Amino acid sequence: MTSRLAIELEDKYGAHNYHPLPVVLSRGEGVFVWDVEGKKYFDFLSAYSAVNQGHCHPRIIQTMMDQAKTLTLTSRAFYNDVLGVYEKFITGYFGYDKVLPMNTGAEGVETALKICRKWAYEKKGIPEPQAKIIVCEGNFHGRTITVISMSTDPDARSGFGPYTPGFITIPYNDLDALAEALNDPYVAGFLVEPIQGEAGVFVPDEGYLSKAYALCKEKNVLFIADEVQTGIARTGKLLACDHENVRPDMLILGKALSGGVYPVSAVLADDDIMLVIKPGQHGSTFGGNPVAAKVAITALEVVRDEKLAENAMRLGAIFREELRRIKSDRVQLVRGKGLLNAVVIKEKNGKSAWDICVKMAENGLLAKPTHGHIIRFAPPLVITEEQVIEAAGIIGKSLLEID
Ligand SMILES: *Cc1c(COP(=O)(O)O)cnc(C)c1O
Repeated sequence: MTSRLAIELEDKYGAHNYHPLPVVLSRGEGVFVWDVEGKKYFDFLSAYSAVNQGHCHPRIIQTMMDQAKTLTLTSRAFYNDVLGVYEKFITGYFGYDKVLPMNTGAEGVETALKICRKWAYEKKGIPEPQAKIIVCEGNFHGRTITVISMSTDPDARSGFGPYTPGFITIPYNDLDALAEALNDPYVAGFLVEPIQGEAGVFVPDEGYLSKAYALCKEKNVLFIADEVQTGIARTGKLLACDHENVRPDMLILGKALSGGVYPVSAVLADDDIMLVIKPGQHGSTFGGNPVAAKVAITALEVVRDEKLAENAMRLGAIFREELRRIKSDRVQLVRGKGLLNAVVIKEKNGKSAWDICVKMAENGLLAKPTHGHIIRFAPPLVITEEQVIEAAGIIGKSLLEID
């Protein structure tokens, strides 16, 4: 296999729903990936934060292999001997009564929306089907029809109507807009990313989450945190909501819950919310299967045992400091929390963020532009201080070479 052939095959036989950087990867270990020609790269995307524990983490891989040889799938028509153990573990880990296991992030979001609507009718007394859920401009919650119905990104949304009704869109990081929208008595939930990842790592003002939570409580509205990207140590705490001591009524997790090896997502909530769902009302053939359950336990154990949140907190500060020292007028802004960071790039001499990413790849570091002018930097959280400094050096060098 050569890079050229692999790219030709994807182009000819795959749907064109992505526009990848021209790099063909064939192996990964820790913070590094290698292409088919054997060139080594720092992975500063981490599969959109799914690989927080590092590529092919030996403990997670071992767990998966052991369970794969024993029992992979029973469906939820029967009990299995792993799911309950996982449910006890993850609810204890995050401090909720119950978990509902799914596979992908978008499914986790859909699940939370369904639970919220049912709660609205059964517990809050909103007449069916009038429940509304508040969402934020610039959100990213996945790709299903209902989820893109909440989107304000024309690429994600246009051409896919008719859209699912029942959403109120307000600006992100705007408490006045939230307070205003909450005056509608039919509002059942507020769905929010604690930091907007796909939008370009938008970090809201300090106090936004805790005040938003308080406003929701005043109106008996569920605060639903989509921590699919920000959760599981990425921002320097176990959850990004932990920075403001907010405990969401519903918590959506995905991506790194799998250690990057197998799709696992989850919704966590307490009994008064979760138990509105009765047998037959929601489910998934693969959700909660024994491989997923075992993989998720080990993925979370690795985060705790290797102190990945602490590492992200400490090295994130060092990384931003290094980025801010880069002497290039292309760097307009460096922002982020923990090891979820972004640089806003000024276009110059016809060279955009895309060209910088191509140059960085040449120099041995992979990252992906988002929205044309922003580059997100999110390495696996097992990265060391030495590697962070080396990587920042590659980024600086690439920015200077592009001029
Ligand atoms: C990636 C992401 C999702 C969707 O996850 P998939 O596994 O791709 O369906 C949802 N919410 C947020 C915040 C994400 O970053």
